[in-house]
Amino acid sequence: MTTILIIEDETPIRDEVMDWLRFEGFEVLEAENGRIGLHLAHQHKPDLILCDIAMPEMNGHELLVEIRSSDDLSQTPFIFLTAAADRHAMRKGMDLGADDYLTKPFTHAEVLNAIHARLQKQSFQTQQQQKQVEMLNQAFQEERKKRLLKSRLMAMFSHDFRNPLTLILMASDILSSGDNRLTPERKQHQHDRIRGSVHLLLQMLDDMLLVAEMESGYLEFVPKPLLLANFAETIVKEFRLIDQGIHKITFFNHLFGQVKADRKLFRQILANLLSNAMKYSPPDTEITIYLREENGRIQLEVQDEGIGIPAESLPHLFEPFHRANNAKQIKGTGLGLTIVKECVDHHQGEIDIQSTLNKGSRFVVWLPLEKASLSDQPAPQ
Ligand code: ADP
Repeated sequence: MTTILIIEDETPIRDEVMDWLRFEGFEVLEAENGRIGLHLAHQHKPDLILCDIAMPEMNGHELLVEIRSSDDLSQTPFIFLTAAADRHAMRKGMDLGADDYLTKPFTHAEVLNAIHARLQKQSFQTQQQQKQVEMLNQAFQEERKKRLLKSRLMAMFSHDFRNPLTLILMASDILSSGDNRLTPERKQHQHDRIRGSVHLLLQMLDDMLLVAEMESGYLEFVPKPLLLANFAETIVKEFRLIDQGIHKITFFNHLFGQVKADRKLFRQILANLLSNAMKYSPPDTEITIYLREENGRIQLEVQDEGIGIPAESLPHLFEPFHRANNAKQIKGTGLGLTIVKECVDHHQGEIDIQSTLNKGSRFVVWLPLEKASLSDQPAPQ
């Protein structure tokens, strides 16, 4: 219930105002001077204070100074009740931070209107303050998440960069040792180790740069006319080379002509899905990529016959660093799908994952289909 404190030394006025307020359903507290009023205010934290100015013991001005300097009462709406002749006292009261004043004699309607107006304003201000606190809190949590992400990124990359670098050093030492006993196959093996490690380092650097761009909000979305099928085919070919025939990688295209898409982001989507399919599938299994137009949207599908994803991991796959339990033996950063999701979101697309443990996974991405018109400049393929 809304509580109003009335501080007034003239009993008839105090009683009459109390009757009006009680009739309106307010809970009313009364005090006959400023000192008692201040005590009641601290004790009960009223929603509004009505206060006379000229009173014994502690006058209205002194009381208002105390109220405004108190942590828990400083925002309480405060209305002065003043004698009509006392314009100077009224002016001083407003300067000290009163919200309104009523000159005696006042009517029932004047008192109630002033109280309702102040309470409404107070409730609006409280709502605004709560909203601001929520926004600040949200911004603070976001900042905390970003800082955490950054420090985890730094820790992870400084740790994970060591392994491939050490491998490169060891392999190049072996090659430059001039050991004549090295067969051409063993030499080739050392070259492959160097190439593989460099590729891994490049991938890690790309991931790191992209996540940094994402986090700072600078990841640009620049859709341009693109022969998407050709572009996808080029990426698939690159991955076939890296895969060295370990899997059977097939690409089916049913999307023709130029469409608008962001080249850099599309590459991230397909490259991450494809490299996951390769990483998490045993040798000699099939990986199939479909690119097609479906219900007016571009549909990209990457299917594998790999280890699958445990059900409990599915809701967390797009969170940075999440890695499923069955994937821990296989090297990874837990960032690939976070990047994929961000790139899909930039296109205002959608992504869906279906997976069965030890049978395989199917990632489907839908992107809006915007055919490029003849006047659009084709991007270099
Ligand atoms: P990373 O592969 O570097 O761990 P991702 O963000 O690309 O990071 O993937 C997150 C997790 O999702 C992986 O650790 C793995 O558990 C699971 N995952 C992703 N793609 C596949 C897939 N094709 N088959 C099985 N598990 C997958």
